[in-house]
Amino acid sequence: MSAGEQYYEIACCRLCGSSAIETVLELTPTPPANNLITAEVLGRVPACYPLEVCRCADCHHLQLRHIVNPELLFSNYLYVSQTSPVMLRHLADQAVALAERIKDSGNKLVIEIGSNDGSLLANFQRLGFPVLGVDPARNIAAQAVAAGVPTIVEFFGEAVGRKLAAKYGRAGLVCANHCFAHIEDIHSVVEGVKHLLDDGAEFVFEVGYLLDVYQKTLFDTIYHEHLDYHHVEPLAGFFASHGMSLVHVERHEIQGGTLRGFARLGHVAPAASIAAFIAAERAAGLDRKETFLRFEASIKALSTDLNRLLGDIAARGGRVYGFGVPAKATTLMYHFAISSELVPVIVDDNPLKQGRYVAGLEIPVTSAQAIYDDRPEYVLILAWNFADSIVARNQAYLESGGTFIVPLPTLRLVDRNGTRPWTAIGEG
Ligand SMILES: [Zn+2]
Repeated sequence: MSAGEQYYEIACCRLCGSSAIETVLELTPTPPANNLITAEVLGRVPACYPLEVCRCADCHHLQLRHIVNPELLFSNYLYVSQTSPVMLRHLADQAVALAERIKDSGNKLVIEIGSNDGSLLANFQRLGFPVLGVDPARNIAAQAVAAGVPTIVEFFGEAVGRKLAAKYGRAGLVCANHCFAHIEDIHSVVEGVKHLLDDGAEFVFEVGYLLDVYQKTLFDTIYHEHLDYHHVEPLAGFFASHGMSLVHVERHEIQGGTLRGFARLGHVAPAASIAAFIAAERAAGLDRKETFLRFEASIKALSTDLNRLLGDIAARGGRVYGFGVPAKATTLMYHFAISSELVPVIVDDNPLKQGRYVAGLEIPVTSAQAIYDDRPEYVLILAWNFADSIVARNQAYLESGGTFIVPLPTLRLVDRNGTRPWTAIGEG
């Protein structure tokens, strides 16, 4: 991408290079989802970029048709994994599980691509492993370094992989959590990883899993940072095209549904998990275009339901605050046309986000104390993947008579009497 260019349209599949790509879903264009704005730029209309998903008719990979310049997406990235206890527990569990796989290896160096604030690597350090992080976000990498996790500020690719291998040596384990879908040149990433892998070492990556996105209607995980929506069948072919083998896959609950993949250099016989996952993906129809018409219909039905619920509450004079402003909140609010009239305030536990505004919608973000000070009757949990921990931490809000609305995976209400699915007829 040339300097100054805001976005471009892909001409061929990002995984296999086929030009047989076709749009299967068009969401409402949005500004970059993680760039909450400051008060000084309120009133300015932000640049919105197309949010269109296309599939490859050859390898069946799903991907965004338009690639936004990463400098626009990541230069002031506000996501810090330390702020979410659920994610921290997942990272601790992941480190223990992966450490078990390399504990007898002669090479204990763990390198993580997209290491964020160093939360995963800090776990490996506690287990006695030497670590090195690579992350393009200057402000977040600085936090990792301050916490004692050595971190290089770079967009990772083939050249950076070669440079790191020359300087630090090859690694016993290379990890990439939820960044494997964020990087423009995924081929360069894998070539870079190949430089870093020691003999017999594994590349372990986590990505949002398309089967969960489809089956649970997690359309709001589609935003400009997520260029790819992975499933096992296209990934297996992709690694093979780079002289690697996808040897094992696992499903995890984090982020609404995550695929953890294990790849090795050369041609290695895969575990039975690979064939089992591909069979399940085909049974669900991920290899067919019509499947995504059903996906679009499910999104429309959810929009109708949520807007009817919010409209009913407004008609009765009730107020709704939002809880959490993750990137996915931008997709949901833009595509469902949820305005500041329906949700006038959003609270978020991340201090970096407080005092800012959702771009274009101009909804202020403040601390969770606001739901106690202002007592809105309803709180819509936009960070629905953390709904259980948000509800658990805010029992006092429930006890005071408040109700949480959880939009996904199925629209439900949580009050002091428990949780119940929302139906248009049953509520009122
Ligand atoms: Zn393809």
